[in-house]
Amino acid sequence: MSTRTAVDVGGTWLRIRVGDSAVLRHPAPSRIHHPHREPDELVASLVTTLAEHAPPDSTVDVSCGAALDEELGIAYGSGPLWGGELPTRLPLRTLLEQARPDVTWNLVNDVTAALADAVRQLARPTDRRVAYLTVSSGIALRTADLTASVIDVDTYGLQGEVGHLRAATSAPEAVRSLECLCGGTGHIAALCAGPAIPRVAAALGLPEPAAVAAQLSARVAADDPDARTLLRTIVEPIAELVRTLRTTDPLLDLVVLGGGVAEGLAEVYETELTAQLAEVRSYADAGPAELRVRVCRPGHIDPLAGATAVAIGRLPVRKGRFR
Ligand SMILES: [Zn+2]
Repeated sequence: MSTRTAVDVGGTWLRIRVGDSAVLRHPAPSRIHHPHREPDELVASLVTTLAEHAPPDSTVDVSCGAALDEELGIAYGSGPLWGGELPTRLPLRTLLEQARPDVTWNLVNDVTAALADAVRQLARPTDRRVAYLTVSSGIALRTADLTASVIDVDTYGLQGEVGHLRAATSAPEAVRSLECLCGGTGHIAALCAGPAIPRVAAALGLPEPAAVAAQLSARVAADDPDARTLLRTIVEPIAELVRTLRTTDPLLDLVVLGGGVAEGLAEVYETELTAQLAEVRSYADAGPAELRVRVCRPGHIDPLAGATAVAIGRLPVRKGRFR
């Protein structure tokens, strides 16, 4: 019987679990670790590393931190892995198959994998739609339709790339005009992702912006007014996004927030988000708030298990078709 292996490919770490053994961690061959290497070189290094670690005749489920067409095994790009756009669509699965033809390779986007594991751990049998929102070095959303047990994606294999939408914010102009890594300004990622936090602190004119950002959780807990302002500002566009989802999708029963920022700030993030979502602004907010919103604690979500759940068809990705 073939061994099942799961791999999580992030910008910082490659995490590998063969069968039921302990998770092994290696530095990822990524742009983060090798800022001067070309994307082609980094891709070749990733393929070699994965090929080296796959057991003979195994099945490998890869949770990959890149925008992907999972059906075709094509990667569109990843800032942390390869530094933004790839020159062409990358046939990642074909490259892995050429390196190790004895292995069956399944590629799953990491947010999709996290959503599958969030559903496994947190969904109730009566839930109709469940969304996972990652607030990390980037921002992205995936929603599962549990009435059909699928994750719907568009004809390119994508869904919920919300990080580069304009942030809904009451922050001053200096914050609203912050540049995003994609080249745009005022995007949700530019105000709410990990690298944005010290920049938002500086744009707010806070004294010691780097220190406030680095010690945000402890300073909020100590009731530091600058830290409270910073937290309110980086949570606001996320709360507005969740509010929009709540308003437009009556079937949405649960939103799970994960990723380094949300999990790192867990308690204070959840308290601030809950307070902002509880604000009643119009008759539209007058009914009972039925949507459950959960902020994960570190290590709660297992993308390795999620990648396998997607790959074995427990919560498959369903692609839209041109009619
Ligand atoms: Zn952007």
